[in-house]
Amino acid sequence: MQTMKFIWFDGKMVPWDQAQVHVLTHALHYGSAIFEGIRAYACADGASAVFRLEDHCKRMLDSAKILRMELPYSAEQLAEACIETLTANKLAEGYIRPLSFVGHGEMGVYPGNNPVQTIIAVWPWGAYLGADALEKGIRVKTSTFARSHVNTCMSKAKASGNYINSILAKIEAKEEGFDEAVMLDTSGFVSEATGENIFIVREGVIKTTPLTSILGGITRKSIVALARDLGYTVEEQQFTRDEFYIADEAFFTGTAAELTPIRELDHRQIGAGHAGPVAKHLQKEFFRAARGENPKYAGWLHRYTV
Ligand SMILES: *Cc1c(COP(=O)(O)O)cnc(C)c1O
Repeated sequence: MQTMKFIWFDGKMVPWDQAQVHVLTHALHYGSAIFEGIRAYACADGASAVFRLEDHCKRMLDSAKILRMELPYSAEQLAEACIETLTANKLAEGYIRPLSFVGHGEMGVYPGNNPVQTIIAVWPWGAYLGADALEKGIRVKTSTFARSHVNTCMSKAKASGNYINSILAKIEAKEEGFDEAVMLDTSGFVSEATGENIFIVREGVIKTTPLTSILGGITRKSIVALARDLGYTVEEQQFTRDEFYIADEAFFTGTAAELTPIRELDHRQIGAGHAGPVAKHLQKEFFRAARGENPKYAGWLHRYTV
């Protein structure tokens, strides 16, 4: 990855190489951390815009609440700190990673009075699943690993510990030559990918998993809103892997993956085997909104200049 000049660390701008923690940091041993992934886009007028920054900061506080971590910041303060980090690093377009973690203090599972520390890093980041993925679509497989049961890991928290499940599925998918994994919930319905939400399109109707075993993605919410505004019917409804096999189109959404079409699942070609018309349409409108080219969605953007 490309290194930058500064990382925001507990309210101070620290040189990149000096943003360090002790090896006995609680989160390193037990996964007690929460994070966000946010993107900033360069706009046609020379300014930049962070996509739905306030929503991401609110979700960070929600994740903290679920995990009983006390963050000494409001959503507004976190948002301001993200902008400060972008401008300190003169980053006009890229990725923003806020992370709060239980620090070094007592050892043992109980986090007790260990400090909760927060960092914000930013860096340039292109297409998450490869440059071709956004255009041509990707090949995916159903994971042998189930997404955690709704009473196991609290899927509404974007928590580091939850990612063990994602890492297992991702390694399996990559080792078998696929780009990404589709994970089923413990009842056997399609849940989400390792860090993306899932949509299928069948007979003109767009379907996405309801907010059960999945993280409530901000890209997911944005795509649902965009699609409805464009006149599509969107249903939040459980579906099975075989309904996915016979879909006309399918795609992933996420801050990192943006809107990535899926061309194959478990060796079954999806639709025409490339990005379908609905996926292409929504992807185009998503990028227009994110780059400030559609005034209707100006409220989603937090503008800044470097
Ligand atoms: C971050 C994440 C997503 C995507 O959420 P966005 O808000 O769209 O970035 C989906 N699933 C999981 C498990 C995630 O961690």
